[in-house]
Amino acid sequence: MTYVVTENCIKCKYMDCVEVCPVDCFYEGENFLVIHPDECIDCGVCEPECPAEAIKPDTEPGLESWLQLNTEYASKWPNITQKREGPSDGKDWDGKPGKLALLSTEPGQGD
Ligand code: SF4
Ligand code: SF4
Repeated sequence: MTYVVTENCIKCKYMDCVEVCPVDCFYEGENFLVIHPDECIDCGVCEPECPAEAIKPDTEPGLESWLQLNTEYASKWPNITQKREGPSDGKDWDGKPGKLALLSTEPGQGD
């Protein structure tokens, strides 16, 4: 198993999760983060740290497409281990439906 980042991270991107990961397996897109499934050691430490409750174990049903998305972009985007300031309107997007359509496939800046 692995943990995956899901829809509510999009455009919120608080980045609280990256600093607690013991194996530094978060990767940064322009408006979303992903977890590298082969690097994640399933410790679960990041899950309660996410203010958007966007991090889930992939054992939860219905997360196959998110696992696929995390896998794909973890190999394309830069690694991130240090929290930065998130988007200024991040709180406005917390909990909004339909954010997948707003996912940017562009890489973030990384560390
Ligand atoms: S803490 Fe949650 S919302 Fe913030 S970047 Fe990590 S996964 Fe995304
Ligand atoms: S479950 Fe642990 S190893 Fe996996 S991403 Fe979260 S903090 Fe990192």
